[in-house]
Amino acid sequence: MTREKRQLSNLPLVAGALFMAVLAVTLFIECRRKDDIHTFAFETMGTQASGTVYVWDRTQDRLPGDLVHATYDSIETALSSWRETSEVGRLNAAPADTTIAVSRGLSECLRVSEGFNRLSGGAFDPTAEPLMRLWGFYRREGRLPTQAQIDAARALMGRYEHDPFRRTVRKLAAGTRFDLGGIAKGYAVDRAVANLIALGISSAMIDLGGNLFCLGVPEGRKAWRVGIRDPMDRDQLFATVGLVNKAVATSGSYERFVEIGGRRYGHIMNPATGRPAEGLLSATVVARTAMEADGLSTTLFVLGPDAAAALLRDHYRNVEAVLVLPGTGNAEARVLATPGLRGNLELRAEYRGLYSLEFLDF
Ligand code: ADP
Ligand code: MG
Repeated sequence: MTREKRQLSNLPLVAGALFMAVLAVTLFIECRRKDDIHTFAFETMGTQASGTVYVWDRTQDRLPGDLVHATYDSIETALSSWRETSEVGRLNAAPADTTIAVSRGLSECLRVSEGFNRLSGGAFDPTAEPLMRLWGFYRREGRLPTQAQIDAARALMGRYEHDPFRRTVRKLAAGTRFDLGGIAKGYAVDRAVANLIALGISSAMIDLGGNLFCLGVPEGRKAWRVGIRDPMDRDQLFATVGLVNKAVATSGSYERFVEIGGRRYGHIMNPATGRPAEGLLSATVVARTAMEADGLSTTLFVLGPDAAAALLRDHYRNVEAVLVLPGTGNAEARVLATPGLRGNLELRAEYRGLYSLEFLDF
């Protein structure tokens, strides 16, 4: 009896100790979890950058976020067309008929841009700078150009020679100027991913202004679930898609625009007309590299729905795309997706019935 009593009186103590032990173990697991996930966010290249990195070798003295930040900053220093001192800035100021040696990065961006340019009949053009300037995008103050001004700016486009082997550029007109804004962020993301892999990281998702790369899978899951921004309400995601070792980028005029006479003009130029591209609300591309996703999403946006679908069908069977158009009938927007996204792309519950979803047939 006494013994039993003693045991009983010990019970709260035992239970307490057990509780503390469980708590300690749980906290330890929690701490480990938190430590193994590294997140970061900062501003660069005129936009927001963020990332999530799972499980990395902590014996490395460099934080993954710092490495990504340094990668982006060095690319901005080289490729920004807003900075007169950047490599692109100096190329833009250079006279005609002079051969200029360019960096590997700039040459690579031009080479890939030229591929998009060729296949899209000129819709993607790395020399859209004079048009961007004319419409007031560098002053961030729109102005409506005259047709003569548009014609003069268009006449300067594409007038250069690039040798990707020697890595040289020769402008054929002094006024020909480069703007790599349609591809540089994708290039930067690919560089950052390569640097993360070199650090031993195999699971991460990084985002640079809507240019994402999903490396590996998040711990314990099958894929990264990525949201696609609603072009009519940029704070909302209208659909999601599961991605593993894939890049995704979205182009939309809602991202940056100037207002002229109460009308909004988007920052993606249609070289064929010399005016901001119209037709699509947004174009999203899923591809192997962030550079391809970035360049191609801009290209599709310029082309508009029909030519975009034809380009995907004829030349880019290996990429997936989601095009958003103004709606017809009851639908507020029409979503067209490549057939490879069947069973993966999902409209979020709030959008079902509001946006129509169709898969392209090819
Ligand atoms: P974001 O900059 O919002 O990510 P995009 O990747 O679609 O959007 O790129 C748009 C940028 O590309 C513009 O701000 C400009 O710098 C550049 N650009 C504009 N028109 C064209 C074009 N027709 N071809 C290639 N680049 C373009
Ligand atoms: Mg782009």
